[in-house]
Amino acid sequence: MGIVIIGTGLAGYTTARELRKHDTETPLTLVTADSGRAYSKPMLSTGYRKQQTPSDLVQGEPAAMAESLDAQVLTGTSVEALLPGESAIRLTDGTTLPYEQLVLALGADPIAPPLGGDAAEAVFQVNDLDQYERFRAAADDARRVVIMGGGLIGCEFANDLREAGHGVDLVFPEPLPLPRLLPEQPAWALHAALTEMGVAIHTGVTLVAVDHGTAGVVATLSSGRTLEADVVLAAIGLRPRTSLAKTAGLTVEQGIRTDRWLATSEPNIYALGDCAAVGGYVLPYVAPLTNAARALGRTLAGEPAPVHYPVMPVTVKTSCCQVVAWPPPEDAPGAWQFDGEGQNLRGEYRDTAGTLHGFALTGKRIKERMPLTKEMPPLLGE
Ligand SMILES: Cc1cc2nc3c(=O)[nH]c(=O)nc-3n(C[C@H](O)[C@H](O)[C@H](O)COP(=O)(O)OP(=O)(O)OC[C@H]3O[C@@H](n4cnc5c(N)ncnc54)[C@H](O)[C@@H]3O)c2cc1C
Repeated sequence: MGIVIIGTGLAGYTTARELRKHDTETPLTLVTADSGRAYSKPMLSTGYRKQQTPSDLVQGEPAAMAESLDAQVLTGTSVEALLPGESAIRLTDGTTLPYEQLVLALGADPIAPPLGGDAAEAVFQVNDLDQYERFRAAADDARRVVIMGGGLIGCEFANDLREAGHGVDLVFPEPLPLPRLLPEQPAWALHAALTEMGVAIHTGVTLVAVDHGTAGVVATLSSGRTLEADVVLAAIGLRPRTSLAKTAGLTVEQGIRTDRWLATSEPNIYALGDCAAVGGYVLPYVAPLTNAARALGRTLAGEPAPVHYPVMPVTVKTSCCQVVAWPPPEDAPGAWQFDGEGQNLRGEYRDTAGTLHGFALTGKRIKERMPLTKEMPPLLGE
């Protein structure tokens, strides 16, 4: 029986590696709907800048991963149901796989944009290596790319494609990029840097339709303006994959709910990574899942360990103006204060007693991240 992990993204493979540090005996099976190749997802949005093809990003083929983890890796295999009552999962071919302990490392689904037009189906989304491979095949020779979404992924792809010489239109409904991460002043710094490198930014509008044009496609904005492009990429957000858990009766909030031991509401089922809400936090980034996997590896091996979450600032890899930020909670008292000029800014969000609740660093000031991070209390302490 042993341990079954669903998902071979960073959360799945990191958990498997951490488990094997403490337990080399228990049979381990990883099941994935995708190709099962190990890769670091953050590298998808720096591929052009680092002159890496999709195959350069592969860190391990599934057979090599299986060997190094002393595990079975079932690729191209979708799980259709969790059967907690039977301690088993059901695959789409109808077979069941039993488990003693089950880990949900299911990731998140990119949100599909509601688009009209006869080429809406041709819009790309990139949230895994397989999708990136298809995107690169279309984008490598593209003269002009339209990107929907001004968050981390949209901004990073805009920066990367522009640096590689593509024409880029970046479209989003908010007034400034990184609306959930940055206050106004540093967001302007990024806006200016992207504009300076030649990204055409269209704020306050959405993309409403994509149609075939004489060459390539024509993207229509909510303002009525049209943009010609060869390729359109949508990066408007991610939604944790919770439907398997919900259907099986596990408690789901914004993600699959777990406690500090990564345990879900069902015995012997754990969750981490982009699909999980750990101790109330949905943090779809690498540092939280790495901390979670470290704790879960021990727990699965029979040495229960709670996850520790320090403040883990988000780094945005826009080479034109790098960003490191930890936004304050919405209800935090206080105000922003800024220091610096141009693209090199340091913003601190403090209350009247001087307590730091969040910060934003851009350009050369990102190197000041450590003392600020250390000044903040952990999210989930020791
Ligand atoms: C372009 C890009 C850049 C990023 N840059 C950064 C960055 O700089 N820093 C940072 O911290 N974070 C970054 N992130 C976020 C970070 O990469 C993710 O938080 C992390 O990779 C999520 O890993 P995961 O294992 O939870 O999910 P995933 O990698 O999505 O893995 C999910 C796995 O579950 C499998 N699966 C799902 N459903 C089923 C099913 N029903 N049956 C079988 N298998 C299933 C999938 O096949 C897949 O193997 C970036 C994300 C993107 C898209």
